[in-house]
Formats: sequence, structure tokens, C-alpha cells
Amino acid sequence: NKTASALSAHPTMQPLSRHVAVIGAGAAGLVAARELRREGHTVVVFERGDQIGGTWVYTPEVESDPIGLHPNRNIVHSSMYQSLRTNLPREIMGFRDYPFAAKEQDEDGDPRRFPGHREVLKYLNGFAKDFGICEIVRFESEVVFVGLVEGGKWKVKSKRKRGDDMEEVYDAVVVCNGHFTEPRVAQIPGISSWKGKQVHSHNYRTPEPFRDQVVILIGSSASAIDISRDIAGVAKEVHIASRSVATETMEKKPGYDNMWLHSMIKSVHEDGSVVFPDGSVVLADIILHCTGYKYHFPFLETNGIVTVDDNRVGPLYKHIFPPALAPSLSFVGIPFKVVPFAMYEFQSKWIAGILSNRIALPSKEEMMEDVQIFCSLQEASGIPKRFTHMIGDYQFEYDDWLASHCGCPVSEEWRQQMWLATFKNARLRGPLYQEEWDDHHLILQAQEDFRKYTF
Ligand code: FAD
Repeated sequence: NKTASALSAHPTMQPLSRHVAVIGAGAAGLVAARELRREGHTVVVFERGDQIGGTWVYTPEVESDPIGLHPNRNIVHSSMYQSLRTNLPREIMGFRDYPFAAKEQDEDGDPRRFPGHREVLKYLNGFAKDFGICEIVRFESEVVFVGLVEGGKWKVKSKRKRGDDMEEVYDAVVVCNGHFTEPRVAQIPGISSWKGKQVHSHNYRTPEPFRDQVVILIGSSASAIDISRDIAGVAKEVHIASRSVATETMEKKPGYDNMWLHSMIKSVHEDGSVVFPDGSVVLADIILHCTGYKYHFPFLETNGIVTVDDNRVGPLYKHIFPPALAPSLSFVGIPFKVVPFAMYEFQSKWIAGILSNRIALPSKEEMMEDVQIFCSLQEASGIPKRFTHMIGDYQFEYDDWLASHCGCPVSEEWRQQMWLATFKNARLRGPLYQEEWDDHHLILQAQEDFRKYTF
């Protein structure tokens, strides 16, 4: 809404319409495209896959290198596994103005509050269709190069599955390529001589390949928890190794007769043995790394202005703009441990408004200073660099900051309360948190709120 903002950057200037390339048609790219178009920009969305949805496009296909490290492996984008149900309730998971509501008339829909992955893909397809995004997506077009050219514009080279490769110039580029594809693995003493199999959760789809195996699963994230429960049904033994567990730990997981919890592996050996710090030894067949992912922008050429160092993408003002290249280069979706879709929506609104000159950015020097202060404060608080973009604890504050700078309403209070209630419930009820809950009053508030958005 160009007229509503009290934050006009250059009130005397005409709003600018820019030609913008969006890289990726996952949730972030879709909402970025919508917000950019709402603001009057022309948009092309590049998508290397053959459909929208990114992470939510489940495929049984896995990569040729199961641990996902070989530089010449075939790349499968999505890390989705067959059994996945959302870890957020649908009321907070959707975009703010496009509720992720169960559709009673939808016969093959999944009306559960924490639905399976197919339902999320359906929701994203509905979003793309209702906002006419599919027409501006170039499918099977992989961006292979993005670099600055004269006049502060960007050259974008794309490789197309059908047709000639393309080279074009855009006023701005919004990077929405996701960050759950490039595996990060644990460093384990002795691993080069270990003869067993190694897999990263990126290439986990179903439990079947783990049948009758002794599995060491490293990690304690949401995926690690899901996958350990999945494979415990078929594996001979599952040993979870977690660096957040005390060194003397070796305990059976309640409710399972074949799952144990350990602290992080001490060493592995040629004979297949895995040694834990408490002295226990397990003869294992497979090490499954559920150890997360790295930010990866293989197409981006910024002459060293934007770097990824120990999983810090930097320097980025508010996790979005590299000061020296703002506003023509931006990133949507960098923060993690967040409620993603709504955050992408706020980030995209801000980017779109800045590109049209409706909203002002501070000077490059001021942005740089802000980034430096942010990093120094993190260091002073003992937060490791790799957690630079982990904003879970203050994500609603972050969203509200963006909202206030966009001139749009801040997050509804029930969203934060529901997020907190969900985590409390998961701690209380374990795997049952997706079936039973106590935040009925918040669901009612959400439903009341959604009445505003009848689409
Ligand atoms: P993606 O969905 O990864 O989309 C990026 C897109 O960019 C892809 O389509 C890809 O093909 C394309 N692309 C990449 N590189 C290029 C290129 N060079 N050229 C052209 N196109 C390119 N979030 C939740 O809210 N709830 C959950 O329950 C939840 N569960 C999750 C479970 C798993 C296993 C994972 C991995 C993530 C989960 N998430 C969950 C987080 C989820 O990733 C985000 O919700 C969101 O879908 C990410 O969207 P994105 O657009 O940033 O990235």
C-alpha cells in the first residue's frame, strides 16, 4: 500500500519500479515475489526444480553420495522425509494474510493441526495460484552466476534444462535459495579409517535402509528426534550421540528397548567400533549425521563482499542486506529457529518497500556499524559465530521491528504465545505434542483473526 506509509523515504520522489530477479520458488521466493509485485516491481523467479515449494517437494530420490559431501554428486534439493509432520501448528505456520486453514471440502487433504508435508506443499501451491506467481516462475532454470555490472545492476546467468542458457541484467536480486541442502557433518576422530556407512539426514527418506542395522545417530535437532523415532521401529539398535549431553551419559531412552542416549562420540575405529567418552563401545554399521546444514551461494560473485564464515553470512544488516550492496542485493530466510513463513513475509515487505524508495535504509556506514555492534554483542555473550542467525528467542521482536519499518501491523500476540505453548507442550508430552495440546484459547483467537482474510 504505497499511500499508507508514514515512513516515506523520499516523499518527493516517484516510487521506483525495479526489475527484480528472485532466486528460488520455495516459501521465501513465493512471498518475496508477491510482495515485490504488490509494490509495483517487475519480477522473474528462477527455480531449478520443475515445481514450486522447495523443501516441501518430497522426493524419494537421494544423492549419489549419501553423506552429501562429494562436489560432483547429483544435488537433490529437498531434505524432506516421508513421515514428516510439521513441528509448528498450522495457525502460526502460514503466511499472515493467507491462513493455512484445513479445508473441509478437500477430500485428499490432511486436516490435522500438525499436518504432513504434502499438505504444506498444497498450501504453497494454493498461495502461488491465488497470487498468480506461477506465471512469473521460470522452472528448470538454475541460476549459476550473479555478479555486479556497471551502474550497480546485476548480471544473472541461468542454465535451463530445456532451451539455451540465458544471461540477463536486473536492477536487483533477492536470494531465496534455502539453506537445508548443503550438509554439515560432525568431525569425528578416526573417521577416515572407519569402514562403515555414513549418511546425512539430507538423504534420509524412509527407515527401511536401516532395518536390522546398528545405527549411531548424531544430533539433537527436530529432524534428529523424528528420524531416531522412525528408525527405532526397524533398526537393531539406535545410539544417539549428542554434544549437548553430559560426558558420563549412557542411558536408555524411555519407551524404547533399542535406543540409547550418549554424549558426543570420542573416536571411531577401523574395526567398526565407536567409542563414547564414558568408555562404552558400540560396534556400528551406520553413522547418520543429523547435524544440520551450511549456507551456500555457489552462484554469488561479490568480490569477497559477502562471505560465509563458520555459517555466518556476512556482513548482513538485519540478516537481509549486505551494506555495501544494499538495496540491490538482499536475502530472505537467513534466520533460523524461527516461525519461517511469517518472517519471510515481513522481510519481503521491507525489501520491496526499500527497492521502491518508499522506505529508507540507513547509510552504508550506519548499517555496517550496526552489524559490527551486533556481532560484538554476540561475541561478548559467548554466542558462537555459527549461531549468528539463530534468532529464535527474539524473532518476534525482529518481526515487529520489520513491521514497524514497513508501516504494517506487528505480529498478533497469539502467535508468540502459540509458539511458546507449542514448545512447552513438546517438552511436556514428547512425541504426543502433535496430537494433544492445551492452547485451545489461542486457536480460537487465531480463527477469529483469520476471518479478516477470506480469500
Ligand atoms: P526452500 O524451500 O529450500 O526453497 C528454495 C528454492 O530455491 C528451491 O525450490 C530450490 O530448488 C531453489 N533454488 C536453489 N538454488 C537455486 C538456483 N541456483 N537457481 C534456481 N533455483 C534455486 N518449517 C516450518 O515452518 N515448519 C516445519 O514443520 C518445518 N519442517 C522442516 C523439516 C525439514 C526436514 C526441513 C529441511 C525444513 C523444515 N522447515 C519447517 C523449514 C523450511 O525449510 C522452511 O519452512 C521453508 O520451507 C524454507 O523455504 P525457502 O524458500 O527459504 O527454501
